[in-house]
Amino acid sequence: MKYYIWTEGCQMNVSDSQRVSSSLENLGCSLAGRAEEADIIILNTCVVRQSAEDKAYGRLNSLRPLKKKNPRLVINLMGCLVGVKPNQALRERFPFVDVFSPPSNPQPLVEYLIEREGQSLEQRETALRHAAMDGEITLPELERGKLVSAHVPVVLGCSHACAYCIIPYRRGVEESRPPEVILKEARSLVNQGVKEITLLGQIVDRYGKDNPAYPTLAGLIHQLHEIDGLERIRFLTSHPSYMTDELLDCVAELPKVMPHIEVPAQAGDDEVLINMRRGYTNAQYRELISRIREKIPGVSIATDIIVGFPGETEAQFQQTYDLLADLKLDVAHLARYSPRPNTLSARKMEDDVPDEEKWRRFRLLEDLQEGIAAQIHNAYLHQTVPVLVEDRHKARWRGRTPTNKLVFIESDQDLQGQIINATITWTGPWSMQGQLAEA
Ligand code: SAH
Repeated sequence: MKYYIWTEGCQMNVSDSQRVSSSLENLGCSLAGRAEEADIIILNTCVVRQSAEDKAYGRLNSLRPLKKKNPRLVINLMGCLVGVKPNQALRERFPFVDVFSPPSNPQPLVEYLIEREGQSLEQRETALRHAAMDGEITLPELERGKLVSAHVPVVLGCSHACAYCIIPYRRGVEESRPPEVILKEARSLVNQGVKEITLLGQIVDRYGKDNPAYPTLAGLIHQLHEIDGLERIRFLTSHPSYMTDELLDCVAELPKVMPHIEVPAQAGDDEVLINMRRGYTNAQYRELISRIREKIPGVSIATDIIVGFPGETEAQFQQTYDLLADLKLDVAHLARYSPRPNTLSARKMEDDVPDEEKWRRFRLLEDLQEGIAAQIHNAYLHQTVPVLVEDRHKARWRGRTPTNKLVFIESDQDLQGQIINATITWTGPWSMQGQLAEA
């Protein structure tokens, strides 16, 4: 049988889709080039903003005619549109969907296929174990021996409840995966050629807080650091309130841990931060950035920002603008506020910043950040930096610096999976170009 996966949203979804592929390929399925050629179609969905949810509905509706033409087609809706709680309304609205799967869980699909196809499927036990996140993963054929950088979820769900965020409602309560399972999974990936692992969690620095027997994130990273063949370790996303010195020291001291921190500010105004239920102030965020920069020289820092949160005035927005202008962070992921069902802000706060105004604020920050990034990148010009080459993109090799900067390199040699020294020859706000440094 042939399967096709459509993935929307965050790195966690990318990782979840990989697990689906792993499970299905153990059953003997192979990847289809197009949805029209598949016997099984998986839509792995995101609902963090209304626009993502709309895309999922659009994609889902486009499958209706395929299912009509071929009733044997298996349609699997997965991810945050489905959520961890039973959703009868969704089932009634999309009766042509055969299987509904919560985020990070391919089990319902695997069980459905085993039930329907039975003995004809190959390694059913292995597929079931992989689907249950047992710590083993068989990379899909397309990625085997080729995937350089992989994601490993370490904290599932989230219990923080930021006022605007739907994720806790859809991914369920925070749950750290056992350290031995994470280590097993990381080894399994490295044995299949992976060189870099990014540990994932909605608040990754809360790793282990739900289980006294588990290490801290820093403790876990120390254990991962011992894996031979693993070259680089990253983690995301951090929350300003949980960023410990232990973790920063571990980034500073361990050579495999890359100097890059993703720590969203979301807003710069104290009242907006309170309304968002973020739990820190503008001053505390600024102090945190200084602390990170002090501990980890040369660190790069990424943030997330939401503009147009309910009640955000022009003056309050200016606080966000000033925060970014002052701190000069490497990356800012920008979003316009989108009310999400059941969240505190959707229930209790009026979405009163007009759309044009959200766009205006968004573009102001976009322009500001473009200038900052261009300036930071300009300092890389003529420098020689170690780049882990991930893949080939339109006749050039593509990789990343320790600080997570995207570098394109022209070379006829096979550089895939290698850490090469590249001399930077051109920089822009979003990427750089380099050439192999003279040996
Ligand atoms: N747990 C991570 C990721 C959350 S989702 C974290 O806390 O950073 C990724 C980003 O989407 C968030 O950081 C936030 O900036 C944005 N986001 C979340 N909910 C949103 C909403 N309702 N409207 C607009 N942006 C939102």
